[in-house]
Amino acid sequence: MNQKTAIAIHGGAGTIAPHLLTPQLEIDYRSGLKAALEAGNKVLKSGGTATEAVLAAVVELENNPLFNAGKGGVFNHLGQHEMDAAIMDGQFLKAGAVCGVKNIKNPVLLAHAVMTKSPHVMMAGDGAEAFAKTVNIEFADNAYFHTEHRYQQWLDIKGTENYQLDHTAKSENKMGTVGAVALDKDGNIAAATSTGGMTNKKFGRVGDSPIIGAGTYANNETCAISCTGHGELFIRSVVACDISCLMAYKGLTLKQACEIVVMDKLVKIEGEGGLVAIDAHGNIEMPFNSEGMYRASLSVNGEEVVKIYE
Ligand code: ASP
Repeated sequence: MNQKTAIAIHGGAGTIAPHLLTPQLEIDYRSGLKAALEAGNKVLKSGGTATEAVLAAVVELENNPLFNAGKGGVFNHLGQHEMDAAIMDGQFLKAGAVCGVKNIKNPVLLAHAVMTKSPHVMMAGDGAEAFAKTVNIEFADNAYFHTEHRYQQWLDIKGTENYQLDHTAKSENKMGTVGAVALDKDGNIAAATSTGGMTNKKFGRVGDSPIIGAGTYANNETCAISCTGHGELFIRSVVACDISCLMAYKGLTLKQACEIVVMDKLVKIEGEGGLVAIDAHGNIEMPFNSEGMYRASLSVNGEEVVKIYE
């Protein structure tokens, strides 16, 4: 098969309040999204796989301090950066994930290494970091992950038992997770997600992003999905798997399945957030029930979308 390619990415659901978005900040967010879209698209256009494309797009977002993943990741209760990431290949149903890792420059690359260079699917904390050393994954010191706006966000609630999800109305600086889904020229799809989680989260807390079937999933037969939102609710709703199952068992379209899960099921349990999704025909959906979601897509027809709000 030699078909057209497509890609969709997100930089987190829940967005900065419209009145706080300065023209310059808007330019920066949009160019960050566009750069990630282009990084993924370049891979697809040069014949790369969907897995390679989502990897390239997510690495680009992890390296951008504006987004809550890699550099720019939030601080946990102890003032550390504990990160989660996952990747899944929809052709072979292969997956790799890491959770609670520290000092890993690009957690999605480590998740990819778990998928391709280990017999496991998910590795956590110290063990994942020890594995990283054996597969030449780049480490970065604490200073690399320190960004002033995230630090201030943490200082506001440090010492309390509260945590700050990027999506809650209180926050003035509401960027979440990053993620990507793609369709390659051979008709294969893939998904990847990476996050710093929630500001002031408990040491050891893991969200939905690295959990296959909750925050990340890919299956050529149905769809590839990367979520962003209130992780606990996304885990309990098994969001990505639920959408895939609605398509597989009920014969729903990607659009119908996304609508039911994001705009109805999640809303009923106050699960704020959204996702990007693609199917093997190149249909793209980017639903969210939050105020906004940093997102961008490039369809099979070359139509480009870069959006923050509705
Ligand atoms: N889903 C992420 C988590 O709960 C957070 C986010 O998307 O903003 O860790």
